[in-house]
Amino acid sequence: MQIQKMEKRIEGIKAKLVRIGEMRPGSLNKQFTVCGRSNCRCGDPKNPKKHGPYYQLSYVHQGKSTSQYIQKEWVGAVRLQLANYKTFKALTTEWVDLALTIAKEKFLADKERLTSKTQALKQKKPSIGGTKSRDTAK
Ligand SMILES: [Zn+2]
Repeated sequence: MQIQKMEKRIEGIKAKLVRIGEMRPGSLNKQFTVCGRSNCRCGDPKNPKKHGPYYQLSYVHQGKSTSQYIQKEWVGAVRLQLANYKTFKALTTEWVDLALTIAKEKFLADKERLTSKTQALKQKKPSIGGTKSRDTAK
């Protein structure tokens, strides 16, 4: 991809990032539990009906992992936040990919330019000792 095309793509990513709403990292897990009380429906040997579902949100932020229960009425909103975070993450990862590629290509182009310049100078350089060499270098 051309540098200009990649830069245009980055502009598109920035525009999308601005539109991202509420977000949070992590994953939501549905859980069912057994309370352990005798005669409870959850401990029925033939047809156990566990308690729940309970929704547990787990995430890692700045190296610290956290886990918390989410109220049933918040599950929809949290799912949306998690989806928004995935979009955010995908866009920023793509931005970094493009930024690295652009930086590399610019570096290579510059290196090529410098190399051809040096080669041109070498070719133009007159024999050693000539007093004119200083003037031609200007
Ligand atoms: Zn129970």
